[in-house]
Amino acid sequence: MHFESDTIAAISTPVGQGGIGIVRISGPQALAIADRLFRPKKTDSPSSARSGSLLYGHIINPSDNAVMDEVLVAVMRAPRSYTKEDVVEINSHGGMISVKRTLEAVLAQGARLADPGEFTKRAFLNGRINLTQAEAVSDIITAKTEESMRIALEQLQGGLSEKLGEIRERLIETGALVEAYIDFPEDEIETNTSLQILDRLAGIRKEIDALSATFQDARFFRDGLSVAIVGRPNVGKSSLLNFLLKKERAIVTHLPGTTRDLIEDYLNINGLPIRIMDTAGIRNSEEIVEKEGIRRSLNAINTADFIIALLDGSEPLVGDDLQLIELIRPKNAVILINKADLPNKISIETVRETGKDFLPVSALTGKGIEELKALIFHSNLRNWNEEREGVVVTNIRHKTALDKTSSSLGRAIGLLSADQPLELFSIELREALDSLGEITGIVTADDILDKIFSTFCIGK
Ligand code: GDP
Repeated sequence: MHFESDTIAAISTPVGQGGIGIVRISGPQALAIADRLFRPKKTDSPSSARSGSLLYGHIINPSDNAVMDEVLVAVMRAPRSYTKEDVVEINSHGGMISVKRTLEAVLAQGARLADPGEFTKRAFLNGRINLTQAEAVSDIITAKTEESMRIALEQLQGGLSEKLGEIRERLIETGALVEAYIDFPEDEIETNTSLQILDRLAGIRKEIDALSATFQDARFFRDGLSVAIVGRPNVGKSSLLNFLLKKERAIVTHLPGTTRDLIEDYLNINGLPIRIMDTAGIRNSEEIVEKEGIRRSLNAINTADFIIALLDGSEPLVGDDLQLIELIRPKNAVILINKADLPNKISIETVRETGKDFLPVSALTGKGIEELKALIFHSNLRNWNEEREGVVVTNIRHKTALDKTSSSLGRAIGLLSADQPLELFSIELREALDSLGEITGIVTADDILDKIFSTFCIGK
């Protein structure tokens, strides 16, 4: 655990060449460090500048006054900054060397290199944002489609925390009704009061469960829907993937927090980010030995959220096709009869008997692709039309905490209905409140915070 009131610094722009590169400094020494490194052209020094001003000048090496770079320096004074501390952002020319040298100079003046997500963590610890809002910052950075972005932004603006805060208030009020009877044990709780409390709690619990249930659909907008395209060689798996990628490729996403930076392709289907699993035969079938190929396909069938099983409609079904149909029968899957531009030779009856959705398509002409997209969307997002209007839960941490809250409430309700001692009821209610508080960070252990912020990129 770092001492939270030291001064931290990091490069906040992506690694590589760009128009500008930004070194961000936050903490009590931010302005003093900037004063020592920055020679203003005409304007004030950072420490005498007004909050929100932008200063033009040069970064110099304090030991020999040599000019290191031409920069703009943004000054944001506590508490009106991202972290609520004094923040200075040095905008330098965006070359690898220029930004790195500026950072080194800042560190040499006594700042410490920031941990991943540490600026945002400070924004949380200093009370500028709550934990769900901090997590939303990370979700915005990794948002894969406009719809993912919209949901993350709503979370940042406090949609989820407001709703949770309101539920929390109601729980506390209801709990207070019982506390009175605990404090004056000679008063028996009246049946009417008891019923009223039970009724309220059941209502609150129902709302919590409904919120938790949105995770089923909403999670895909944050994490993506994983889709496996499977089928024997030559049915058209790569053709289909290429067709989809050409038309619907989402912005290439950069996943932070891993030792190796990962670039993944996503498809964007009506705002739903889709991650195509790297199954055998999709990209490099020649290089993979047969056994490895089968192992990968089986693995994909077992782990994907959704399976696209491909058949070649221009040839009669063979043993491998029938085997595939059996494998996907219990799964969330669609059967595509590809090469629909050619005369059909497949037994549609056999396909129909599976009971799965099926669709004739052509990866060559694009026939059926719009129907496929609609089918992928609706097979996986069953309640999205109503849900997208309200507050949704996209993060497994939030869902787990909601479910814990609901269980505690369930036990509290059980105890009260069975006329058990009110102290026991009160303990369960307290636990429910704690679990709920974990979500926005009212109650949160350090290790949970470390885990959350370690997935951020450095400089955020
Ligand atoms: P994979 O081994 O399953 O990835 O199959 P490919 O995508 O490599 O396709 C095998 C062959 O089928 C290639 O020659 C494709 O051009 C052809 N093919 C794929 N889809 C279609 C289609 O919809 N119609 C026609 N006529 N040919 C297709």
